[in-house]
Amino acid sequence: MIIILIGPPGSGKGTQSQRLIDYLETAHLSTGELFREHISSESALGCEAKQFISRGELVPDHVVDSMVAQTLEQPRFADGCLFDGYPRSVPQAEALSQLLNLQQREVTLVLELDVPDSVLVERLLARQRADDTLETIKHRLEVYGAQTRPLLEYYKQRGKLETVDGQGSVDDVFGRIQAVVNQLKTDSSESEESNPSTCSN
Ligand code: AMP
Repeated sequence: MIIILIGPPGSGKGTQSQRLIDYLETAHLSTGELFREHISSESALGCEAKQFISRGELVPDHVVDSMVAQTLEQPRFADGCLFDGYPRSVPQAEALSQLLNLQQREVTLVLELDVPDSVLVERLLARQRADDTLETIKHRLEVYGAQTRPLLEYYKQRGKLETVDGQGSVDDVFGRIQAVVNQLKTDSSESEESNPSTCSN
């Protein structure tokens, strides 16, 4: 399965991703985490990305897309993965779709974590990350609205989107995510039973 988790900054995307990869025993691909690793190792990519991240801007698509393409080549992603923080714009979604097409794969499910802005600002101010000042938080929320929100329509039109209420405790939210994922598993095993593979050996 290839699952994408989309949510504004502060929606609990990182925490829920961790729970979901443990539950599904799948690989995790977080572009934010990859950038933070590059920044702490002071790589050329890290230096380039840092200028954008510290301003609350998105790192340019070509930088993110090529980092993701390289990362996906690792064997641990061969059986699927959970994307956390990628794609974050329609052009990135198109780049991902092309990349997966080349491997005869496609996105299985897109989960949106829905949380109102007022709750997001409160949560973000309570955490201790270098890019979490009030100014960058507000800017990241604007960037989310302008560049990432259109992705929801993009995936909705393709029948991939499921929206989950991201308010409440971590357990409550995860329970809702689990329900969506379990339903998907049931649907796909039912369609396999009614459409058994025609391959002969
Ligand atoms: P995150 O940990 O997902 O909140 O990402 C932290 C920061 O990394 C974001 O505010 C962006 O500046 C940058 N970033 C992460 N993923 C992407 C992406 N897919 N496209 C562009 N920038 C990204």
